Amino acid sequence: MKYNYLIDTHNHTSDSMDADFSAAEMCEGAVKNGLDIIALTDHVEIDVFKRDGFDLDAEASYRHINEVKEKFADRIKILTGVELGEASFAPEDADRLLSEKDYDFVLGSIHNLRNREDFYFIDYSKVSTEAIILEYYNEIKNLIQWGGFDSLAHLTYPLRYIVGEHGFYVDESKFKGQVDEILTLLAEKDKALEINTSGLRQKLGRTMPDEDVIRRFRELGGSLVTVGSDAHRPGDIGAGIIQSYEIAKRCGFGSIFYFENRKPVEIGI
Ligand SMILES: [Zn+2]
Ligand SMILES: [Zn+2]
Repeated sequence: MKYNYLIDTHNHTSDSMDADFSAAEMCEGAVKNGLDIIALTDHVEIDVFKRDGFDLDAEASYRHINEVKEKFADRIKILTGVELGEASFAPEDADRLLSEKDYDFVLGSIHNLRNREDFYFIDYSKVSTEAIILEYYNEIKNLIQWGGFDSLAHLTYPLRYIVGEHGFYVDESKFKGQVDEILTLLAEKDKALEINTSGLRQKLGRTMPDEDVIRRFRELGGSLVTVGSDAHRPGDIGAGIIQSYEIAKRCGFGSIFYFENRKPVEIGI
């Protein structure tokens, strides 16, 4: 199947602490990989906004994205995005940042629990994985209640580490009620669910969330989905995007969306 538009609305530049390629290098990669529309969405972890220098990162990222937006204007459409982490921990700081910047698109993420390190660093042999996942889903509900984002990024993120990296078994059916509640809330608040394809190229081997959850979102009234590779290097931009379109279609979605000036724009698939 050939698609008219290849869109990837989750990508990082060297203004993210875990990426090394400039905004221009990422955009060159996007053009090379045949993308039509991308969002650059550097990390701003709002729970440690000032402590860890994310206030400076946010400024630099915003400036650099606006520079490439102009520079690449005749080659690719670039959207000014941000991946806002843990906004529910410090909603006033999140609101202030969003009121100061004209972002096109805001991803909402939870990368760590309150007063805890990133899921990446946890020693899962020493903790109850079920308790961790439950706490994660509760925090996602807080994030949706705050509601200042456009699309919920990589729902089921802890599974990337617990199941993917460390190979622990998790009975995901135990969390069905939690996940249903999250998907219903998202649909009610007209928020998008992201199909994050990074898991396809990692040990997890599936999107975050996976197809069952995306289908359930549709069943529970969800209509907005965004797609993102979560690329941290140029070669990964657009990776898995065609698969994410196929998944969306199989789950009953006739369109995917990108956001411009914080408004959803529909693209038929
Ligand atoms: Zn993330
Ligand atoms: Zn990301």
